[in-house]
Amino acid sequence: MTPQDATPAVFSFARFFSRPLCPECGHEQFVPEQSSFVENGGIRHAWLCEACGNAFNTNIQIGDIGI
Ligand SMILES: [Zn+2]
Repeated sequence: MTPQDATPAVFSFARFFSRPLCPECGHEQFVPEQSSFVENGGIRHAWLCEACGNAFNTNIQIGDIGI
């Protein structure tokens, strides 16, 4: 098995969406702690910065990314 085969689906998912930067320290976030669908067809990602421990959320509207 190559490393690419072993890549968890969540990495592809995270790559598909833009990675946010931590609003506290600017550290690039890679994988959401949690992703959930919200009303109005959006997705909310909950992030926990591994650099400073800051927790924050981002919201994505499905319509904005062309699905
Ligand atoms: Zn941070």
